[in-house]
Amino acid sequence: MLYLENSILVRGDVDLKGVLDDPLSRLHGRRMLITEPAGHWKRLFPSVRFDPDWFNNRLNSSLCERYFELCEQMFTQLDVKNHIVSKSRADVVVLVLVDGLSYYDCIGIPEVRPCLVPGPTTTPNGFRNITQNGKIALELYAKGYQRRLGFSHWGRKGHDELANSIFYGFAPRDMHQIDEFDEVLQILSHHELDNCYIQILLEGYDQLSHRYHGRPQVDTIVRQIFGVFLSKLIREFNGRGLSYNLFLTSDHGIWWRPPVGTKSDFEVFNYGRASRMRHLVGCHFGSRFIVWERNGRSHSLLKYPFVFRKLRKNEWGVHGGVSIYESFVPFLEIEVR
Ligand SMILES: [Zn+2]
Repeated sequence: MLYLENSILVRGDVDLKGVLDDPLSRLHGRRMLITEPAGHWKRLFPSVRFDPDWFNNRLNSSLCERYFELCEQMFTQLDVKNHIVSKSRADVVVLVLVDGLSYYDCIGIPEVRPCLVPGPTTTPNGFRNITQNGKIALELYAKGYQRRLGFSHWGRKGHDELANSIFYGFAPRDMHQIDEFDEVLQILSHHELDNCYIQILLEGYDQLSHRYHGRPQVDTIVRQIFGVFLSKLIREFNGRGLSYNLFLTSDHGIWWRPPVGTKSDFEVFNYGRASRMRHLVGCHFGSRFIVWERNGRSHSLLKYPFVFRKLRKNEWGVHGGVSIYESFVPFLEIEVR
């Protein structure tokens, strides 16, 4: 959809017939893209499949121009809760939440698809979009997942309110603060896991992007999460003969500083005393902003390629605004029954 100019997107299973029959539909001269066509519609039209390398920085301008349309039509963080609740039917349901990980850095990993972050690409907004203040755990409970286990890399200080909202409904005895991933496996080995919902909050790139001596090794952490952590979890479930629905996603992506010798695409936009790099609270108008309003609160998100100031020496990436690096996070789904 990001690629197609002068086109409209139609959800095949819902309103395709309505659009075709509607005399007021202005289809003339426009291309129509049908997502997930159901039944006989599938055979009526040619289908298009995109390779992973379609996702590149040329898409930044389409994303900024068609932002609200995309928020309406694409799979976004606001769809994650219902998706997880409706798809879960195995013995164990696991949701791995990574703090700071771009879809862009996961391209090519099997089963990973893009998920759009509606609104500011910040930690509170991203995680609240996904868990909707603990509603995933509550709705899974109603579906029979009455055991819960929560794991978090975050200490309590500084993240209290947000952590409480992400893990809403988890009793203190169900919560475990961890320093390294293997502690998760050790604790799981002591618990019954039938009808259990496991939520794991992992450190991704968020902290590394702001303050770090030396450039963070993005590939290494991606390999560790997908290649090592998930494999260990899967081995644990397989070893115990448990079926599982495993999901992984992230709060927001990171727009990395380009490697030495590469021309930087950051463009400094001097705008008063902005303390953040990529977004402001409240309505600020102008061609460089996208104004996002929700629940009576508004944020002004900087479009690609603007930042409010130059990056500091130990600052390796930014987030908060709208770009394909920040606004698309990975969504992984594995089911073994
Ligand atoms: Zn974050």
